[in-house]
Amino acid sequence: MKKRIFSGAQPTGNLHIGNYLGALKNWVSLQNEFESFFCIVNLHAITLPQDPKILKQKTLDLARIYLASGIDPQISTVFIQSDVSEHAELAWILSCVSRMGELERMTQFKDKGKGNAERAGVGLFTYPVLMASDILLYQTNLVPVGQDQKQHLELTRDLAERFNRDFGETFTVPDPFIPPVGANILSLQEPTKKMSKSDSNQNGSIFLLDDADTITKKMKKAVTDSGTEITFDDARPAIKNLLTIYQLMTSKTTEECEANFAGKGYGHFKTEIAEAVVEFLKPFQQRVKDYSDEDLKNILKTGANKAKTIARETLKDVYEKMGIVGALN
Ligand code: ATP
Ligand code: MG
Repeated sequence: MKKRIFSGAQPTGNLHIGNYLGALKNWVSLQNEFESFFCIVNLHAITLPQDPKILKQKTLDLARIYLASGIDPQISTVFIQSDVSEHAELAWILSCVSRMGELERMTQFKDKGKGNAERAGVGLFTYPVLMASDILLYQTNLVPVGQDQKQHLELTRDLAERFNRDFGETFTVPDPFIPPVGANILSLQEPTKKMSKSDSNQNGSIFLLDDADTITKKMKKAVTDSGTEITFDDARPAIKNLLTIYQLMTSKTTEECEANFAGKGYGHFKTEIAEAVVEFLKPFQQRVKDYSDEDLKNILKTGANKAKTIARETLKDVYEKMGIVGALN
């Protein structure tokens, strides 16, 4: 039997090249080897305020982006989180197994809650428990994610191990799959923080659907480090980030990338990266137009039915182990 992978993205804002390089690219390359579940995590999206109309539209748009990236719905299960109510059910169960202290240590809560726990939503606080539920429902072996999700994955493993210890062997304990290059693409404007969909400064991110002009402009505005050398140097994160983007877009080796820009100025460097990104995104942007809403809905329905069967099985086992029995079953 094939091992399983599970991953997802939130239908918030627009997907950027960080999401692609850190996550989607690996989903595509792993889908043949693993039984794959790719979820549109709309219940995670509402941990911050969303406009309902936009959220609805973005949900279908994200499915389109998954497929245009190369996710094959004949091989992989693509579905919307809210279609499988077991995600929310298991999240409640696991929130009863989680401790306040371990959730308080999650850095994403501190970042997104802007350090103001008093004002932050409870959903934002318990977000990692819902994420653990997403993963554990499918007895997932491997979770391909970006670096920012490493801490949430560790919590998922802790919750699975705790549940297994307290109630008997129930969940597969998943491993993260974090790519060695591209797992932490930084903002073009503030290269100390990651590129993010929810960043209010749109110039910090290159979106998968940006046109050539926009990409060129954003790249020109990208912050650089002092000095002139164009090398992969940890001490110069802005240049390293731009070089990493170039490397992943062109599939060149580290040495080839550095040799390509030896003796060249930042202006030339930025133009060449912009060209590489535009070229790379061209076929993707073409494919996005291939899917009608109708096609997508059919794929998502099939996906939800398949996911639900597996999710229900896990949840039934969880309820049984915990002594949760109703009158109807
Ligand atoms: P938001 O700001 O709304 O949280 P996001 O950009 O973090 O948006 P998510 O939907 O939360 O996007 O994450 C989807 C996937 O993309 C996750 O696996 C995450 O680890 C990965 N990812 C997000 N940002 C980056 C980044 N800058 N570099 C590499 N991977 C990333
Ligand atoms: Mg995120």
